[in-house]
Amino acid sequence: MRQEIVYSVVVPLYNEEMVIDESYKRLKKIMDTTSESYEIIFVNDGSLDKTREKAEKICSQDVNVKLVNFSRNFGHQPAITAGMRTSSGKAVIVIDADLQDPPEVMLKMIEKWKQGYDVVYGKRIKREGESFIKKFTAGAFYRILKSMTSIDIPVDTGDFRLIDRKVCDVLNSLPERNRYVRGLVSWIGYRQTYVEFVRQERFAGDTKYPLKKMFKLAFDGITSFSYKPLVISGYLGGVSFLAGMIMLVKDLVDFAAKGLKLVNFQFLLSVDLIMFGIVLSCMGMIGQYIGRIFDECRGRPNYIIENIVNKRGD
Ligand code: UDP
Ligand code: MG
Repeated sequence: MRQEIVYSVVVPLYNEEMVIDESYKRLKKIMDTTSESYEIIFVNDGSLDKTREKAEKICSQDVNVKLVNFSRNFGHQPAITAGMRTSSGKAVIVIDADLQDPPEVMLKMIEKWKQGYDVVYGKRIKREGESFIKKFTAGAFYRILKSMTSIDIPVDTGDFRLIDRKVCDVLNSLPERNRYVRGLVSWIGYRQTYVEFVRQERFAGDTKYPLKKMFKLAFDGITSFSYKPLVISGYLGGVSFLAGMIMLVKDLVDFAAKGLKLVNFQFLLSVDLIMFGIVLSCMGMIGQYIGRIFDECRGRPNYIIENIVNKRGD
């Protein structure tokens, strides 16, 4: 009988020829210490260098390693998604290839999983060897996202995490396309906890996340978990309307009390602000509807039932 796999380690790879061998060595060493069955799933996200050849060589020497090759570069989040969909372990660990997430931390995650947690994410308490700009933009992004959404997406965590099979199955069943995986994992719920770690310097090579890809990730994060940007015009409209009304009232008072001319520059401006306010408020209203259409077409279920106690027929 085929042995059941306990751990699946998903590793996205994009032009990682300089790190893949070392990465495999470290991952194997750590996973061997668990004395339980595991698989390593490399997802080659359309690398242009020798990543594919190197990964194929590793696969030919180690049956525990699987390789998913993309036809072109689709991006980090699609790569993680494909890895999860290919995985069959009872626990799935997603880890970057560049050893910035220290593989040793996986053992701490496994420990927490054995204590009964379904999601164990890695929380970066420090980032080493990364530029000020990267740290600043990442820090700012996580905090903006947190303030915009109603679900609790932990700050300073990437995709380095362990998820239980049941969480992975829910994630795999979600149809949405522009996925922000770490947000979806938070949204799914179940028992979640974290382990702290110091993010290391990249083992070799450069970041595969240029500004353009970082922006895409940030927009995916914000737009898939918040439609506040759509309704912001409504708030602006409210402010504009209020300012216009105050100015108008002042004008009318001046007109009545001091007999000043009613149609002056300030009067026109106040009427303008009021009209502008009405238009923006209407746009905010439309935003509310678009937000709801957006919710519907994402197709996320309304809820996820973990279990039902005393269900008839059990
Ligand atoms: N990656 C990927 N596809 C991409 C970009 C990155 O699969 O289009 C992988 C990359 O090989 C690495 C992980 O995603 O394993 C994180 O990328 P990187 O280390 O470059 O990001 P950073 O740590 O600089 O944010
Ligand atoms: Mg990295």
